[in-house]
Amino acid sequence: METAQDLKMNVYKFGNKTADGNSKLRNLLGGKGANLAEMSWLGIPVPAGFTITTEVCTQYNQYGQEETIAMIKPEVEEAIKNIEEIMGSTFGDKDNPLLISVRSGARVSMPGMMDTVLNLGLNDEVVLGLAAKTNNERFAWDSYRRFIQMYGGVVLGMKPESKDDIDPFEEIMEHLKDKRHIELDTEFTVQDLQDLVYDFKDAVKKRTGHDFPTDPWDQLWGAVIAVFNSWNGDRAVYYRKMHNYPADWGTAVNVQAMVYGNMGENSGTGVCFTRDAGTGENVFNGEYLIDAQGEDVVAGVRTPLQITKLGSERWAELAKVDEEERVANYPSLEEKMPEIFKELDGYQDKLEKHYRDMQDMEFTIQEGKLWILQTRNGKRTGAAMVKIAIDLLKSKMISEKEALLMLEPNKLDELLHPVFDTGALKRAHVIAQGLPASPGAATGQLVFFADEANKYKNSILCRIETSPEDLEGMNIAKGILTARGGMTSHAAVVARGMGKCCVSGAGALKINYKGRSLRVGDKVYHEGDWISLNGSTGNIIEGKVATVEPELSGEFAEIMELADKYSKMKVRTNADSPKDALVAKNFGAQGIGLTRTEHMFFEVDRIRAMREMILAETVKGRKHALEELLPMQRKDFEGIFEAMAGLPVTIRLLDPPLHEFVPHQLATQKDLAEDMHISLQAVKNKVADLSEFNPMLGHRGCRLGNTYPEITEMQTRAIIEAALNLKERGIEAKPEIMIPLVGTYAEFLEQEKIIRGTAQDVFDERNDSIEFMVGTMMEIPRATLIADKIAERADFFSFGTNDLTQMTYGYSRDDAGKFLPIYLDKGILTSDPFEILDQEGVGQLVEIGTERGRKTKPNLKVGICGEHGGEPNSVEFCYNTDLDYVSCSPFRVPIARLSAAQAQIKAS
Ligand code: PEP
Ligand code: MG
Repeated sequence: METAQDLKMNVYKFGNKTADGNSKLRNLLGGKGANLAEMSWLGIPVPAGFTITTEVCTQYNQYGQEETIAMIKPEVEEAIKNIEEIMGSTFGDKDNPLLISVRSGARVSMPGMMDTVLNLGLNDEVVLGLAAKTNNERFAWDSYRRFIQMYGGVVLGMKPESKDDIDPFEEIMEHLKDKRHIELDTEFTVQDLQDLVYDFKDAVKKRTGHDFPTDPWDQLWGAVIAVFNSWNGDRAVYYRKMHNYPADWGTAVNVQAMVYGNMGENSGTGVCFTRDAGTGENVFNGEYLIDAQGEDVVAGVRTPLQITKLGSERWAELAKVDEEERVANYPSLEEKMPEIFKELDGYQDKLEKHYRDMQDMEFTIQEGKLWILQTRNGKRTGAAMVKIAIDLLKSKMISEKEALLMLEPNKLDELLHPVFDTGALKRAHVIAQGLPASPGAATGQLVFFADEANKYKNSILCRIETSPEDLEGMNIAKGILTARGGMTSHAAVVARGMGKCCVSGAGALKINYKGRSLRVGDKVYHEGDWISLNGSTGNIIEGKVATVEPELSGEFAEIMELADKYSKMKVRTNADSPKDALVAKNFGAQGIGLTRTEHMFFEVDRIRAMREMILAETVKGRKHALEELLPMQRKDFEGIFEAMAGLPVTIRLLDPPLHEFVPHQLATQKDLAEDMHISLQAVKNKVADLSEFNPMLGHRGCRLGNTYPEITEMQTRAIIEAALNLKERGIEAKPEIMIPLVGTYAEFLEQEKIIRGTAQDVFDERNDSIEFMVGTMMEIPRATLIADKIAERADFFSFGTNDLTQMTYGYSRDDAGKFLPIYLDKGILTSDPFEILDQEGVGQLVEIGTERGRKTKPNLKVGICGEHGGEPNSVEFCYNTDLDYVSCSPFRVPIARLSAAQAQIKAS
C-alpha cells in the first residue's frame, strides 16, 4: 500500500483519532505538526487540522507566492473540507462558521520566533453568525478585534514604528479606555468592541492603503505566506544562527480548528510541563488562566495561576499569600476544575511515557471540554537536563545510550558557572521577590531595552515583560528580570532554554521605560545601577553579590561516568599552569594535550629575562638570559607534572613571533634600555627589526627553535630536569615534547636532534633517565601532505586546527573578524570555521595527515589541540577520523567527554 509519503503530499491532515503523518515525520511536518498527528493517533483530543510541509516552505523561498499557492491549493481545499466535516461547521459560512488558527512549526522548536494568527475566517458577516451560534455577542466581537489585531501585525505589518512607539492597535485601545474611564480589556462593552473593530480597520486602511481582507480564503493565504516569511524574519534568523540551524530546513504551517478558552468562567487556557524545567524535579507543573485565549499565558499579560495544588502552595509561599487568600483568589486547576485536571494529568503521563522525555504542553478548556493544542520535548536548563536524563534512566524509561544521546553537550557548561556565595547572600539586601523562572546567579548593571544590553560588560535586562523581539538582548544580558509573567512566560521559557538566570513576575517592580528607571517601594534604581538576581529563589538583590565555584551534583558525576563507559577516545586539556591542569583533572581530563609555554614568559618576573634574551646580539648573551629562565621553566613544568600525576603531558616549544614579547611603548622601552645598559636606540632598532607584515606567517613556531637552537635546548632541559626531579620524589611524569608549526621534514629533524641530544646530556649528567616522546603539531597544510615522511621520526601528531584553518582558508586569525560576520550574514559561510571545524576542507587534511602518518607508523598517537577539540560536532568528526584524543580548555572537558560518547554511540 502506498503511504502518504510515497505520494509526496504537500498537506497532511490530522484529527478524530487518525492522521496522515506521525511523529517520525518531524523533518517534513515540523515538530508541532508531527506531534499533532501523533497525538491524534494516540486518541488525545486535538482540534482537527492539517500541516503544510517544510518542503513547501523551501519551494516558496525558491519559486515565490503564486506558484506555491497554485501547487498546494487543491490539497488545502480538501483538508479544510476535512476539518469542516469533523467539526461540523463551515469555513466562511455566516450561520455556522469554522474559524481556524495558522501557526508555524519548524523541525526543532523555536519558541516565539515565528508568527501565529488566531481566529482566522472572521469578517463583518461571519462575526454575526459566530455571535448567534455561541449565543455570546461579546465573545464574537472580542475574537474579531483580536483577529484584526493579530493579522494586522503579522500579515499586514501593523507594528510599532520605533521602540518608543506603542503598538498601533494598543494605542487605539488605550485611547478608548481613557475615554471610557476603564482599565481592563475585560471591561469593554460589545459596543466598544464593535468600535474597536471599525477603528482598527480604519487604521489598517490608512497605513497600508488597502482594505482589511474580508474573504476568509484571502485571509488564509495571507497568513500561510506570512508564516513562511517569518522563517526568514530577524528573530528566527538570529535564533537559527545561535543554534546553527540551516536556513534550508524551512518551517511547516499548521492550520487547525479554533477552540476557545475565552468563553467564560468554564473556559481557560494553559501551559504545563511534565517535570520541572528549571531543576528537573519530577513534578507535574504549569500555569493557566480562566477565560483567556491563546498567547495570554505566555505573554504574561495577567499573572497566571498554578495547575497543581502543590505548585499553588509553593507559589503562595514565595508571594507571601496566606492559605485562605490562596484558595479564594489563586486556586489551582486541580482545585478549581478537578475533573479537567484529572484528564490533563492522565494525558501528561501518557505523553511523557510515549515520547520518553519531559513534555511541554499547551491546552485549552472550551466550556468544560479539554483540548490539547501542542506537545513537545520541553526546553530545560543544563541542571534539569542532567537530572531528567538520570531519573528517566533509573525509572527504566530509557536506556543508558538514550540517556547520553538526549543530552546537549554545550548545556553542561551552565553547570560549571559560579553561584552566589552563601555568606555574601546572608548579608545581601533583598529588595523584591519574583518567581524563580530560570536558576543561576547574575550580577550586572540595569538596562531597560534589549538593544542596549551590550551597553555594559555585565547587564541585567529589566522589562515589564519580554517579547520574542528581545531575544538578542536576552542572550547578551547576564540575567533577565520581568515585572509581569509567570513561570511559563516568554522570558522564563526562553531564559531556561538559554540557561540564563531569570526572575519573572516581580509585581512589586514599577518600571518606567521613559525614565529608564525602576521603582520598588520608595527606592528608585536607574539604568547602570548594579543589581543581582538569584534565579533559584527569585530574590532581587541590591548591588553586587560575590560568587563562588559551583558544587557539581551527583547526577552530573553519574552522567560523566556513563559517558566514559561508552567512549574510547580520550579527552585531554589545554592547560598552561598547575591550577588550570588541576581544574581540568577534576573535570576528568585524561592528560594535557597542549601546554603553551609562551604564556609562562609573560609574568612580570620573567618578561625581563625574556626580553634580554631577544635583545641579545650574541649566542653567549642569549644563553646567559636563557639560563635565568631555565629554573623558572623547570618549576612550571614540575608543577604541571605534579598536578597531572602520571598522566601524559604534551609541552609545546616556544611558538609565537618574538615581537609579541618586546615593549612597544616608549616608557617601557626606556626602562628596558636602562636595565640592560644599552641605548634606547638599540632597543628601538631591535623592536623595528622584529616587526613583520604577517607575523602569523612569519618568524614563529619551529622557525624560532631552528634559528635560535638555544631556546629549544633550554626548554628541553627544563622539561627533562623537571621530570627527573619528580621521579626522585616518587611521582611519575610523562612528557611529550611537541614541535610547533612544522612544514618540512628537515625542520622536524633539526629540532628532534637538538631535543634528543639535550635530553641525553641531562641523562648523562644526572645518571638517570625517563621515557619521553618527541612529536609535532600538524598545523601547516604541507605537513599533513608529507605526514608519512614526518611519521618516520615523530612519535605523535597533534592537529593544531587553529593554524590549520587559518592556512587552509588563507584567513588570518588576527584579521578575519573584519569580514567573517559579513560572510556569515550573507550565507557565504554557514558557520565560523575557527569555531566549528570545517569538515569538508580542513577536515580532509586531518584525515589525510592521520591516514598517511599511520601508514608509516600504525600505532602513531594522533590528537587535536585546536579550539575545535571541545566543540561537539568537531569532536564527533575526530572520533570518526579515529583520533586517539581531543584536547580542549578545562571548562570544556565535560562537554568533550559527553560528545565523544555520543559520537561513538551514533557510529555504532
Ligand atoms: C593551533 O594552531 O591550533 C594551536 C593549538 O596553536 P595556537 O592556537 O597556539 O597557535
Ligand atoms: Mg598554532
